[in-house]
Amino acid sequence: MKILVLNGGSSTLKALLCEFTGPRPPESPQPPLWEAHAEWGWRPGLAELRAKNACGGIDEREIPIDASSAVIEPLLAALWEGPARVLQSRGEIEVVGHRVVHGGHAFTETTRVTAEVRAAIARLVEFAPEHNRLELEAILAAEAVFGEAVPQVAVFDTAFHTSMPEKAAVYPGPREWLDAGIRRYGFHGISHQYTSRRAAEILGRDPASLRVITCHLGNGCSLAAVRGGRSVDTTMGFTPIEGLMMGTRSGSIDPGILIYLVRHRGFRADQLDHTLNKESGLKGVSGISGDMREIQAAMEAGNPRARLAFEVFVHRLCREIGGMLASLGGLDALVFTAGIGENSPLVREQVCRQLEFLGLKLDPQKNVASPRDEDIAAPDSGVRVLVIHTEEDWEIARECHRLALAGW
Ligand code: ADP
Repeated sequence: MKILVLNGGSSTLKALLCEFTGPRPPESPQPPLWEAHAEWGWRPGLAELRAKNACGGIDEREIPIDASSAVIEPLLAALWEGPARVLQSRGEIEVVGHRVVHGGHAFTETTRVTAEVRAAIARLVEFAPEHNRLELEAILAAEAVFGEAVPQVAVFDTAFHTSMPEKAAVYPGPREWLDAGIRRYGFHGISHQYTSRRAAEILGRDPASLRVITCHLGNGCSLAAVRGGRSVDTTMGFTPIEGLMMGTRSGSIDPGILIYLVRHRGFRADQLDHTLNKESGLKGVSGISGDMREIQAAMEAGNPRARLAFEVFVHRLCREIGGMLASLGGLDALVFTAGIGENSPLVREQVCRQLEFLGLKLDPQKNVASPRDEDIAAPDSGVRVLVIHTEEDWEIARECHRLALAGW
């Protein structure tokens, strides 16, 4: 089965083609048959749609797909046209899988896209304006390329966390919030699902008996508490701002700060949005950059603000791991993934040192030897520590395959 995966971020679109033979996909990722990236470029009409989003969801008929088709069509045509083609024709593609960031509370699992599903994704643009609209555009553009007969599948970043118990998902605000969909959804679910399953595989353990904390530390950062392969708690909530300190996002802060800024500094919603999403986190505290590599380099050069930013990052990370630990009631494995989690031995070492009281012991040599899909705990450690390369696109392809074999 040849599966095309489209993963559209806010500025780029990633496309890859995977092939699965046999009734079960291999657990560990295989190299794709083909992959390509494209810049979305300027999005006509986005500002107007944003203004509308402030008042409610959008109607999918309002989405101009010309711009997306202009990006997607030539990108995909390289698959079956020209010297580097890997297919005889577009007809060889049997399924198209899409990453969709927000599936709300209704989408508890991977779903075949129908007109109703598209309408629901469009309504959720209100909750994830940067993402759901682009993802819907990609779905419409792919339908234009492949026709309605080729199944399209939405794999939601929120779905993995719909297993959270209500007590972990409900905010202690007025009852009307919950009725209006103001609840904790959690994000990065595709990565947390993949890395927690892969951890069980690397450890040779049954996922049903494993308690794992997955630390997805990229530009956006979140943790998940996973018991028996199901998310029981996570740090991101109604939006991806909640929880850990991130590259340019604040993570959790006292909401009283927002009331203060509105009352005494005349902040409007778009200014709060910009401050909390783009001017906070590592970038805000350091005044240098939201990029951990630059923070570490500045810290090594003796910059005190970079050091403070790094220390706040690690402190908050440890504090939130403590929260996930309490939700799990114990810990078998701590997993590090994404840009910082996979590539910063310093972050891993500092976090693990803080958790030594659990009987957790890092192997210092393994930690600095660019581990990938490896257990880096000392043999006598009471908790395993894993570095796992996240493979969100592979997980999307697996989900498509699973759904196809289950008869949709
Ligand atoms: P995204 O969330 O956009 O997918 P990534 O997962 O690529 O982002 O993570 C980006 C983050 O990873 C940046 O803060 C970057 O500095 C950090 N990073 C990448 N390589 C290293 C490294 N060698 N040491 C420390 N941080 C790193």
